Amino acid sequence: MSTNPDVTVIGAGIVGVCAGRFLQREGFEVAIVDRVEPGMSCSFGNGGVISTTDLAMPLPSPSIVRDIPKMLLDSKGPLIVRWRYLPRLAPWLIQFVRAASNERRMAGARAFYDLLSGTTTAYDELTADSHVAPLIRRDGMLAVYGTDEGFAADATERRVLRELGATIEELSADELRQMEPSLSPNLRHARFHPESYSTRNPYKLTRGLADDFVAAGGVIHQADVTGLHQAGGRVTSLETDRGEMAVDRLVVAAGAWSARVAKLMGVKVLLEAERGYHMVFHGADCGLNHPLIHGEGHFGVNQLDEGVRFAGTVELASVDAPPDEKRADNVYALGKSILRSFDPSMASDVTTWMGCRPTLPDYLPALGSVPGLNNVWFDFGHQHFGLTLAARSGWITAQLVAGRDPGLDLTPFRADRF
Ligand SMILES: Cc1cc2nc3c(=O)[nH]c(=O)nc-3n(C[C@H](O)[C@H](O)[C@H](O)COP(=O)(O)OP(=O)(O)OC[C@H]3O[C@@H](n4cnc5c(N)ncnc54)[C@H](O)[C@@H]3O)c2cc1C
Repeated sequence: MSTNPDVTVIGAGIVGVCAGRFLQREGFEVAIVDRVEPGMSCSFGNGGVISTTDLAMPLPSPSIVRDIPKMLLDSKGPLIVRWRYLPRLAPWLIQFVRAASNERRMAGARAFYDLLSGTTTAYDELTADSHVAPLIRRDGMLAVYGTDEGFAADATERRVLRELGATIEELSADELRQMEPSLSPNLRHARFHPESYSTRNPYKLTRGLADDFVAAGGVIHQADVTGLHQAGGRVTSLETDRGEMAVDRLVVAAGAWSARVAKLMGVKVLLEAERGYHMVFHGADCGLNHPLIHGEGHFGVNQLDEGVRFAGTVELASVDAPPDEKRADNVYALGKSILRSFDPSMASDVTTWMGCRPTLPDYLPALGSVPGLNNVWFDFGHQHFGLTLAARSGWITAQLVAGRDPGLDLTPFRADRF
């Protein structure tokens, strides 16, 4: 590989690594720059679900806006805001409330549906002939509900998604018990999403694809990008703690730090960190046959190759704030309550983790070219769907950099839409 790559990608999370792989497939020589090792940020510890169009409803909704005050006062609830951060968060929250109108939500769902179409095919392209293939499961996922009211509250969402074309199977409590005997008998309903994929280990998937990237001639530089040089409407080089790096074309896939990178090039992006937590019981087996999310509790449980992972919660706070371990305890307590007989003493080790989901107020990513800059593309802001969307948006980015039409309207994903 030459010292001046055709394309430089900032960020070696799942999003940057997938973009790098698809760019290589377009014939580009590619370098990825990250201050940490591949997969060590948000892509390390997610729930492992690779969903399809059947979860295409963006999160902001009139009912969530109604529930926000209640959620904010419940320190064990699925959403908390660090109060000191509230003034900084205000512009994002105002746009969140605007995005929650029924009209904006439906438009968002249509855009998100088109983006989610092809998520699994894109992963097949990257993984089928790779040593990471055994990390991919193709046997669907579950969304479970503890109350009739909770399930009924999702009825409109199910109808809209079906009208758009999604496949959603509804399961009674008995059908759910037959499918997942290790779940608590208290669960009342479930949605089964047969076309979804998942991974047995999100970190190993990112790391493995990064290894494929290097084996195909890619270079990964471990460096912190601290500045950018521009001339004639182009970014010409990166300032890093390891010296200056020349740039021909640039993809920004810096996850929750992308707004800071964009600011270095004079572009303002309304991106916040939705901090989530996990607790892993290494070596333990919870008996689940599918990964699941809890429709009312907003957490997930997944049996990974390394043990059982309980993941979830949203904490709105600075990307730099220290983790609050109590949040991981809460996620575990919720997850354990829906398992019939999970025995934590089976675990050889228990670890907790916090990761920053990169989220714009309408829960659609920033994807595509950057107004005013001829050689920069954004690929970030994938919120709760970064693992899901990484391959698909990496493919779209590679098409754009190669000068091809990816075949979907990217207007809803413009970074300057707020
Ligand atoms: C608890 C939890 C559960 C989740 N579950 C799921 C799930 O089941 N399915 C799903 O699809 N998604 C899930 N997600 C979301 C998903 O994990 C994220 O959307 C995804 O990991 C984001 O990937 P990324 O590559 O954009 O960011 P990251 O993995 O954070 O990578 C960005 C990288 O950019 C680097 N970087 C940033 N700035 C600079 C700089 N200036 N210089 C050098 N490097 C820089 C960072 O060091 C980092 O490594 C979950 C998230 C959480 C927290």
